[in-house]
Amino acid sequence: MNILTPGMDLKGKWVLVRTDFDVPVVDGRIQANHRIIRQKEVLDMLVSAGARVVLVAHISAVDSFKSILVTLEETLGHALTLLPTLADREAFQKNGQGVGLLENVRTWRGETENSEDLAKALAQGMDAYVQNAFAVCHRAHASVDAVAKLLPPYAGPLVVAETNALTEALDAPAAGKVVIIGGAKASTKVPVISHVLSRAEAVLVGGVVANDLAKARGIDVGTSLVDDNIGELLAGLDVHDERIILSPDFIITDGRALDIGPQSVALFKEHITRARMIVWNGPLGLFEDERYAEGTFAIARAVADSPARTIIGGGDTVAAIDRLGIRDRFSFVSTGGGAMLAFLAGQKLPGLEAIGYYEHV
Ligand code: ADP
Ligand code: MG
Repeated sequence: MNILTPGMDLKGKWVLVRTDFDVPVVDGRIQANHRIIRQKEVLDMLVSAGARVVLVAHISAVDSFKSILVTLEETLGHALTLLPTLADREAFQKNGQGVGLLENVRTWRGETENSEDLAKALAQGMDAYVQNAFAVCHRAHASVDAVAKLLPPYAGPLVVAETNALTEALDAPAAGKVVIIGGAKASTKVPVISHVLSRAEAVLVGGVVANDLAKARGIDVGTSLVDDNIGELLAGLDVHDERIILSPDFIITDGRALDIGPQSVALFKEHITRARMIVWNGPLGLFEDERYAEGTFAIARAVADSPARTIIGGGDTVAAIDRLGIRDRFSFVSTGGGAMLAFLAGQKLPGLEAIGYYEHV
């Protein structure tokens, strides 16, 4: 795999960069900007190397980058020219200045189908491709996968940092490693539990995933939220493995477990304070409602206070730590949700495969 480095001479070369500006937007305002901030390094690097840059990215919250363009420019410190179509890019390549940004690629025909035609169109007139959007690397989309195979590919600094941190998380010795899994999408979380179980001292489980595991252990979960296909989901996982620590008590409303209880917080904290490596993904309860936020916030503070290496991620998990304003108190905060989980589950990510990541590891 080729890695983009600051000293590279890219004078006059056209570089297509897959970036990540997929941020939550409410009433035209960006709610959390950490993904944007993490794209500044690659831009600075390429611009000072003399490259001509075209960015390609997607956003789910709104249709167009138009409403957040000024914020993007201010956060990145570069003027951006929004390019609604590939014809606009052609014109931009002839007489444009600064950095180009292709309009929301998720709305383009062929993007989610990994279309060869779209990939060819994206690659047209470009000299190199940089993958710097770790959070989409688990998706075989045209701007992530197919296009990377048509140009000389490079890993950008964020992809390098993310894969290094998550590899460190997986490879750290089992003794002293504590993995905390919460949240809702069991189909994405159970494979992580299966993969890390033999590589960790303890896997602490809260949230809806804990309901699933408790039910599988024959514990009455009342009317709590559970995934419907848990039998299938849990196949291959020994749910009785002693390293899986389920929350022993809950905050319950109308028979539904909506947060972990004080005994669970105390038990989880015991593991957290002894750990040398902590990996955390997923809130431990319905933290958006303050009545059910205490479990998640207590665990967030305990992880932040721990002297261990702390590697955390997940869109809602990061939203929870941002509510406490403690983002800078973790060793590494991943920009990935699904991509982080796929990586921690030991799966090969198409976007990493396309840039040759697995050829040298
Ligand atoms: P992340 O984005 O960090 O990966 P998920 O998307 O998997 O996390 O799940 C987060 C969601 O799970 C949150 O909206 C939270 O309210 C919800 N959640 C967690 N625990 C429970 C619970 N016990 N009951 C209902 N919802 C829960
Ligand atoms: Mg989420």
